[in-house]
Amino acid sequence: MTLSFLMNIVLDLFFPKFCCGCKKYGSFLCDDCEADIKYVESSVCIVCQKPSSSGLTHIGCATKYTPEKIYSPMVYKGPVKKIIHWAKYRKAYRVLDPLMELFLLSLEEDGVELGERSVVIPIPLHWRKFINRGFNQSEYIAQKLAEEYKLVLNVKALSKVKNTKSQVGLKKNQRKDNMEGVFRVNPWREKEVRGKDIILFDDVATSHATFLSASKSLKKAGCRYIYCFALAKD
Ligand SMILES: [Zn+2]
Ligand SMILES: [Zn+2]
Repeated sequence: MTLSFLMNIVLDLFFPKFCCGCKKYGSFLCDDCEADIKYVESSVCIVCQKPSSSGLTHIGCATKYTPEKIYSPMVYKGPVKKIIHWAKYRKAYRVLDPLMELFLLSLEEDGVELGERSVVIPIPLHWRKFINRGFNQSEYIAQKLAEEYKLVLNVKALSKVKNTKSQVGLKKNQRKDNMEGVFRVNPWREKEVRGKDIILFDDVATSHATFLSASKSLKKAGCRYIYCFALAKD
């Protein structure tokens, strides 16, 4: 019996499972709420947000710092939004498990290529926010992805060095300024990403400014391709 197995039993005793969508007892996501989840109908280019097949970055939009594609299958509303909020503000990341299962299923159904030797990197939190919150929900889902596909998880190479203001209410160019120099590849860990293909993972893709900023830092450090994954698209 592993410690995490025991932990789960203890957690189940003290925190019985309720559906995050409708509060029904039994699981974190009941069948009715699961049926309510909306999936993104057409993928977009991460730079201009206009339709693009398979979420590939348009040739005309790409620079040497932009990611190669973005994949975020679910729409950030209804039960998806409730679960992600729940995980973030009530420090109960296990509620993300059913969403992660759906995400893995979508990856398979959509035939998304991950690359055999890709390194999975979660979007990091600023250390102050990390201490405040106690965990990084993106790290939790990134770990699940890495386990499922037997890929390397790297949570140390990329750091968030600027504690950003909320992006809400900012115009597009203000968002870009807000995200300038936010991430940094730790110099003594550059070799862990140089020449590598990276899967950047976050829970929600909102303005894409976060992904673009993290991607710039990683590409400056010499990584090859970057695929941005998020559970949901806002
Ligand atoms: Zn429900
Ligand atoms: Zn584009």
